[in-house]
Amino acid sequence: MAVIEVKNLTKVYTVGEIKVHALRGVSLSIDKGEFVAVTGPSGSGKSTFMHIAGCLDRPSSGSYVLDGKDVSKTPKDELAEVRNHKIGFVFQGFNLLTRTSALDNVELPLLYNRDSKTKLKSKERHKRAMGVLEAVNLSNRHHHTPNQLSGGQQQRVAIARALINEPAMILADEPTGNLDTRTSIEVMGIFQRLNREKGITILLITHEMDIAEYGTRLIRFRDGRVVADQKVLHRRDADEELAALPPPEPDDIPPPPADAQVEPTAAH
Ligand code: ADP
Ligand code: MG
Repeated sequence: MAVIEVKNLTKVYTVGEIKVHALRGVSLSIDKGEFVAVTGPSGSGKSTFMHIAGCLDRPSSGSYVLDGKDVSKTPKDELAEVRNHKIGFVFQGFNLLTRTSALDNVELPLLYNRDSKTKLKSKERHKRAMGVLEAVNLSNRHHHTPNQLSGGQQQRVAIARALINEPAMILADEPTGNLDTRTSIEVMGIFQRLNREKGITILLITHEMDIAEYGTRLIRFRDGRVVADQKVLHRRDADEELAALPPPEPDDIPPPPADAQVEPTAAH
């Protein structure tokens, strides 16, 4: 069954007198459980497509059926509702609150829920948040703030936050754009695991071909159109690659929490 079904999607941005045709008729369908990588040069319409797919924006024309529901004409406030329940987002810049613990960052989307019937009590929110931190191997860092975590750990917190509402789909826009090679593989390993073990559909945008190869399917954009759509023939396996790499450098080990008591060194 299709999670995303778009037909003849267009998006025109108007900047002063100029019209920018960001999408010029995109039709495609993504099934439940697929891991799709979207690639293409800068300005080809990848982010525009993701914003529409993620119900952050609406198309200028064309249709979009998300998980069986036609959302192309849904009013904005209703779109927010759809988005909160069906989609988790991960961005290049992590978008975490800097003075807030990993646990509180992850719980944040739950606080947006105003529906008294489904609103969780604080104890249940903590439990759920610890569960998703566990899914990204970070439960032992739940009290750390983002500046006490490495880039890869911050991105894992962002992935945990994307998982908190148990979405059917994760949309990730250049999630490894700020990460070194090893950390990128670790993050891709988490996406592969969530996809394999939990069946979460993943739509990943990247301009790096080697990152795209962790997916099962590759869609290439150019000038606002899909110019290629194919199965990934030689899929990379992040866990296998990590096992073959040398252990991480000491730099990757995060500093102790800022409030940690440092023992004074004995005078000689
Ligand atoms: P990509 O993510 O592939 O780099 P984008 O979807 O960001 O491409 O952009 C596609 C085109 O739309 C580009 O020409 C870009 O300049 C333009 N564009 C994107 N967002 C906006 C916006 N908010 N206002 C005006 N033009 C935009
Ligand atoms: Mg982009």
